[in-house]
Amino acid sequence: MKEKLQAMLDAAGRAVEEAESEKLLQDVRVAYLGKKGELTSIMKSMGALPAAERPVIGALANDVKEQLEALIESRLELVRAQDIERRLKEETIDVTLPGRTCFAGSKHPITLVTEEIVEIFSALGFGVAEGPEVEKDFYNFEALNIPKDHPARDMQDTFYISEDVVLRTHTSPVQIRTMLKQPPPVRVIAPGTVYRRDSDITHSPMFHQIEGFLVDRQVSFGDLKGILTTFINRFFGAGVGVRFRPSFFPFTEPSAEVDIQCVICGGKGCRVCKQSGWLEILGSGMIDPEVFKSVHYDPEAYSGFAFGMGLERVAMLKYGVNDLRLFFENDIRFLRQF
Ligand SMILES: [Zn+2]
Repeated sequence: MKEKLQAMLDAAGRAVEEAESEKLLQDVRVAYLGKKGELTSIMKSMGALPAAERPVIGALANDVKEQLEALIESRLELVRAQDIERRLKEETIDVTLPGRTCFAGSKHPITLVTEEIVEIFSALGFGVAEGPEVEKDFYNFEALNIPKDHPARDMQDTFYISEDVVLRTHTSPVQIRTMLKQPPPVRVIAPGTVYRRDSDITHSPMFHQIEGFLVDRQVSFGDLKGILTTFINRFFGAGVGVRFRPSFFPFTEPSAEVDIQCVICGGKGCRVCKQSGWLEILGSGMIDPEVFKSVHYDPEAYSGFAFGMGLERVAMLKYGVNDLRLFFENDIRFLRQF
């Protein structure tokens, strides 16, 4: 038995010396020390030995096992070191390869114009308010002097959740919510997402608006013109022509649409302004006394104005974007330009 163990150790030692790779060493380990390995089976057969010999041979077998493990371990270290050495020689680094670019994230153009507009109005003393996108009929229509039979309530335009609940079609309900919460004076702008059943090149069923309003004693149409002209000159640049055109909205009286001189052609006439030299950018007007009644403001004591604009339209004009859909496609090539 003793000789058998010694012979096995010699043979195993040679196999270890010859093994040139980690894989081959692993094979040697399995062949001798594995569950069905040579040494393992020798150790298993020791039960047949006379009781007196068992401890001696057992100790010897353990010793052989330890020696063999040590041999494999030191050979393994050597093979690994050689392997690293060889790879360092074979693999050279191509320093002319271009590096991997890390792209920084950027803000969406709609976010950019929203932030800029909020900043301009904050400087004019306006606070920011927000409201729910799923809105009660009362706030979206009724309190804004839009009666049940008004065309703006047409099923074509409005997403109804139920008879009494809609996806807000404009940011104006924030006006009502704010005025119901606090007495005048108020000076607030409300940016947000709005929804209409409309989808083509120039309409998206979801888009963004910013609403603003101011209520105090003795607010006049002159104040409206002053504030909006200041805003336009700060946002589109000083000296941009502004004009106010009579219009109609249910919640303001009198009402005006506000045009700016075409920022593309400078007023000469082009495709964007349909040769008129003017671009419509917002709707505005003096808040209708009917609206004040529904929020319990005294129309005799207070007056105010309100305005609203589509942020996609403003962003298109500011950045010269010609297709509304680009804002919603999330194409990285488009977004990276901002
Ligand atoms: Zn033009």
